Amino acid sequence: MKKLPLHWKIVIGMVFGILFGVLVSNFSWGKQFVSDWIAPFGTIFIRLLKLIAIPLIFTSLVKGISDLKDISRFRNIGVRTIILYINTTATAIIIGLLLVNTLKPGAGISQETIDELTETYAGNASISSNIQAAEQQDSGPLDFLVNLVPENIFTAFGDNSLMLQVIFFSIIFGISMLLIDPERARPVAKLITGLNEIVLKMVNLIMLMAPFAVFALLAQIVVSSDNVEILQKLLFYGATVLLGLILMLCFYLIVVYLYTGKSPGWFIKGIAPAQLLAFSTSSSAATLPVTMERVTDHLGVDNEVSSFVLPVGATINMDGTSLYQSVAAVFIAQALHFPLDFSDQLTIILTALLASIGAAAVPGTGMIMLVIVLESIGFPADKLAIGLALIFAIDRPLDMCRTVINITGDSMVSVVVAKSLGKLHYPVRKEEIPLREKDDISLY
Ligand code: ASP
Repeated sequence: MKKLPLHWKIVIGMVFGILFGVLVSNFSWGKQFVSDWIAPFGTIFIRLLKLIAIPLIFTSLVKGISDLKDISRFRNIGVRTIILYINTTATAIIIGLLLVNTLKPGAGISQETIDELTETYAGNASISSNIQAAEQQDSGPLDFLVNLVPENIFTAFGDNSLMLQVIFFSIIFGISMLLIDPERARPVAKLITGLNEIVLKMVNLIMLMAPFAVFALLAQIVVSSDNVEILQKLLFYGATVLLGLILMLCFYLIVVYLYTGKSPGWFIKGIAPAQLLAFSTSSSAATLPVTMERVTDHLGVDNEVSSFVLPVGATINMDGTSLYQSVAAVFIAQALHFPLDFSDQLTIILTALLASIGAAAVPGTGMIMLVIVLESIGFPADKLAIGLALIFAIDRPLDMCRTVINITGDSMVSVVVAKSLGKLHYPVRKEEIPLREKDDISLY
């Protein structure tokens, strides 16, 4: 078992989790047993990952920037990253729109199914809270910039949803380190490098728990999932989203191959554990520490690049979520006979793009952003709850899949940006992982 690669251990944990969930669902006590005795281990794992996300972002970003020899290199990374993120997100939305307009999954939904889904879910508390949360997002055009700047750094450090503020502070901190006398900056740089190694070591330790944690997470998802009959009614819609996500994955692999000459197998093998965790946790933010570790240590992206591209990507680049939003918005419009013209489709592209930038990287955010997309095309407010009810039953499995694409897109952009700046070191440079290489507790 020790020699088995990590991703296989995680896959085994997932398969057993699903089987266990299916098995105990047959017993009246099954659901309660899993939520009392199994699910907490999944929650502990997610908490542990979230616990180290902020220290990891701060230490690796400051280390990344202060290792730069001059600031213009940072501008290069920043500009390329943002341009690539906007392009991949736009590609995802366009793929989604092309698929949903061609396959028309909403056209085949019968009035009977609509009534059944509305009756089951329209009054659901999470649907109304999603609609409320979307209303609170309604803000001025420059609020996004204002919200980037923390008022108090301890507040920003104390709240995982304020990750962009931590990134902002870390960038200014790192740049200021570059601007002062190197002699004075040296002790701080040493401290930060040491802290960064320690936090990365914590990622390794937490990952020892991953195969067991995914068992718990998937068992919990299976016992609390909706009945199969309802899921079947949404199969065509689900398949359209999945097809789009698969096309997106192919797009990434082609870009990596064309731009770096590296095979799809190399890329997938490098990030597979992060993808499996994204699937199990439905949270790019919780997966971030693992994505950073995999992209840096296993794909050979220099810390200078990955420390900026990945945390920023986890918050502003959500290709899977954007693709889902475009498919879901048009699906709902088709099913409820709300006509959409070409300009509505353009509005969807723009709003889904902006919504993915503003979305938090946690489970279910995609649905809140979907409300904003639907509102932007003039979808009647009184029908919003019905619209969401149509897709609610299948949202969690789709969330799991779109989160995989979200983190894969971030990883692809890291590889491309690194390659374009000569910062892709493959085979991985040994000096990048000195402590972990020597370790006894080796997972990989
Ligand atoms: N769960 C997704 C993520 O964390 C966001 C979403 O699509 O709901 O990336």
